[in-house]
Amino acid sequence: MVDKLTAAKIVSSQPVRDALIRVDRANYSAQRSGAYNDSPQPIGYGQTISAPHMHAHVLEEIVPSLAKASKEHPQEELSILDVGCGSGYLTAALGRLVDKGPQGPIPPLVKGKVWGIDVWPELVDFTKANIKKEDKDLIESDTVEVQIGDGWKGLPSAAPFNAIHVGAAAETFPQNLMMQLAVGGVMVVPVGPDGGYQNLYKVEKVKESPTFIKEDFVIRQLLGVRYVPLVHP
Ligand code: SAH
Repeated sequence: MVDKLTAAKIVSSQPVRDALIRVDRANYSAQRSGAYNDSPQPIGYGQTISAPHMHAHVLEEIVPSLAKASKEHPQEELSILDVGCGSGYLTAALGRLVDKGPQGPIPPLVKGKVWGIDVWPELVDFTKANIKKEDKDLIESDTVEVQIGDGWKGLPSAAPFNAIHVGAAAETFPQNLMMQLAVGGVMVVPVGPDGGYQNLYKVEKVKESPTFIKEDFVIRQLLGVRYVPLVHP
């Protein structure tokens, strides 16, 4: 699967390739049989684990800003938020990038922590159970922590984040989450109507202000996508 994504140039960097190789997608899919197909798979509750090429795109968009933050502040831990962790696959792949365990983070990144949140308690449990199969060192080393949470609110207690991934489509740009980015941090988020097609955007915070100011963010449209909605619980 990772070789195919690399041949298609969807995986283009060594850190992303290494992170994906270290997490077995079969542990995160409800049906092991289709686990390595480049397509979404059902994970219950009307939700899906996104296709591997989407996860690869997200990681490739996030890694450069993590590498920049690592270089500028080599003593500081990186912090990452995965909203709508669902299966936990991307949460674990993000965890491998900044692994605090004996194998350490993937160069050129420094150690860090990934918080995964989801609105569905059952999917929080699903994420935890999947990670425990072969990636439980990520939890033991405090590299990954998963909890119930609403993406519209984010996770103020752990902010600011060097990177935020949103795994469900927001009908408008989620301002609370944008405010929780560190300066230089990036968010990858699908924005668009529920039930239709959306666009995936990369939002970079370039300046810090006490209240939301649009000009503090540089927004770039990446590609057309179709995600389940980021619900209002
Ligand atoms: N990224 C995951 C799951 C994608 S499905 C994966 O690839 O496996 C979208 C997920 O977003 C679901 O798990 C759903 O429960 C969650 N979700 C929807 N609205 C949310 C919200 N407001 N806050 C947090 N999670 C939400």
